Amino acid sequence: MNIKELDKEYIAGTYGRFPLTLIKGKGSIAIGDDGSEYIDMATGIAVNTFGYCDDIWVSAVAEQLMELQHTSNLYYTGPCARLAQLLCERTGMSKVFFSNSGAEANECAIKVARKYAADKYGKERNVILTLKNSFHGRTITTLSATGQDVFHNDFLPLTEGFQYVEANNISDLEDKVKSGNVAAIMFELVQGEGGVMPLTQEFVNRIFELSEEYDLITIADEVQTGNGRTGQLYAYMNYGVKPDIFSTAKGLGGGLPLGATVLSYKVADVLGAGDHGSTFGGNPVCCAGAISILNRLDDELLADVRKKSEYIISELSACSGVTAVDGMGLMLGVTTVKPADEIVKECMDRGVLVIKAKHKVRLLPALNIDWETLKEAIEIIKAVCSAEV
Ligand SMILES: *Cc1c(COP(=O)(O)O)cnc(C)c1O
Repeated sequence: MNIKELDKEYIAGTYGRFPLTLIKGKGSIAIGDDGSEYIDMATGIAVNTFGYCDDIWVSAVAEQLMELQHTSNLYYTGPCARLAQLLCERTGMSKVFFSNSGAEANECAIKVARKYAADKYGKERNVILTLKNSFHGRTITTLSATGQDVFHNDFLPLTEGFQYVEANNISDLEDKVKSGNVAAIMFELVQGEGGVMPLTQEFVNRIFELSEEYDLITIADEVQTGNGRTGQLYAYMNYGVKPDIFSTAKGLGGGLPLGATVLSYKVADVLGAGDHGSTFGGNPVCCAGAISILNRLDDELLADVRKKSEYIISELSACSGVTAVDGMGLMLGVTTVKPADEIVKECMDRGVLVIKAKHKVRLLPALNIDWETLKEAIEIIKAVCSAEV
């Protein structure tokens, strides 16, 4: 059996894969099993921050891999402690809990918020407001946090205590906060899976005002938006606010599984010994790679991300087959005249990998994609979008 047949036979049928087997990659170029080359504008869903097998990341990972691959959290290791220090120094936060995925990073954030509220106000105060059309993960609790019924129906009963506010609807937000028992508000600043939709500044301001007034914990889910993706180190920095907790994963590890729940001073000591844990969390190899990634997300690189973003937006906005471009930085959702599925397929046929977010074509290129490659990809995307059906 070839790889596609083996996969169909033995892999649980949870994924609708594209008809493409990738065998190799370098930078923004991925190579299929028939030798064909693709410009990758999706980076494994915002994971390969510096593309495939980036030299600096590979050596950071490989060096650590030869020293010590895993210890469990019963012992101290350098990469984990140093990465936590770096995350805190870059954000003004206080402490970090490491896990292996976005869902786990959110689980930890939810536990911290619930315990903070229970310790201070009693166990009844346990409601976490999330937004409609949000996406927070696939575990039963992060699925419960996810404000999209399509993900819920087959898996009832869900974890209790989540209520869904319509994104950017300030009066809905106020009503739900005032209805009582709210412990926290959790949100993506740019809803990724929900269709690459940024929250408005006014809505974000109101979240933070209400949280101040009612002592609610603000949780920014930066799993997709984090680590330079939106043109700032974390997306909340675009809004001039600072959450009590942010979670991140995807691009942090640059291609290895790593989640982080980053805690401000206010909640830094809510969890104590035995309250939470992870066997793999803070793995030294993943953390060594992440240190090399964070160290490169400096002002110059972030400015370059914003410049590339402006370029893509202006090119695609002027394209006849495009009706809107939403998003921030190098996390963009393109509304096209032709159905997004067709665009994705035709782009692949012409050597460009893009993905979807709801009905939009989603672009998540490597943050260091070189200009020439980027221009080549955008020309192809424009041609595909505007071609006659
Ligand atoms: C991808 C994603 C998650 C889930 O991350 P996993 O690593 O797949 O568990 C959670 N929140 C957001 C905003 C995401 O984009």
